[in-house]
Amino acid sequence: MRQRTYPGPPVDPPLDGWLYEARPKPGCTRCAELKAQLDRATRRGEANARFEAARSIRQCAHEAAE
Ligand SMILES: [Zn+2]
Repeated sequence: MRQRTYPGPPVDPPLDGWLYEARPKPGCTRCAELKAQLDRATRRGEANARFEAARSIRQCAHEAAE
């Protein structure tokens, strides 16, 4: 299953656009870490780090905490 339909080159994406959308799964330790990174990057205004964290959350395999 592929979900890689980019509508076009990411030129000046609007804030809070889908590029930054992330749905961390409750109970997933990796998501929790990434969400913390995302929040930190958001506070610092680091768009690139923010995008990376959001993307990582979207790609997370959601490992349950042990
Ligand atoms: Zn996860």
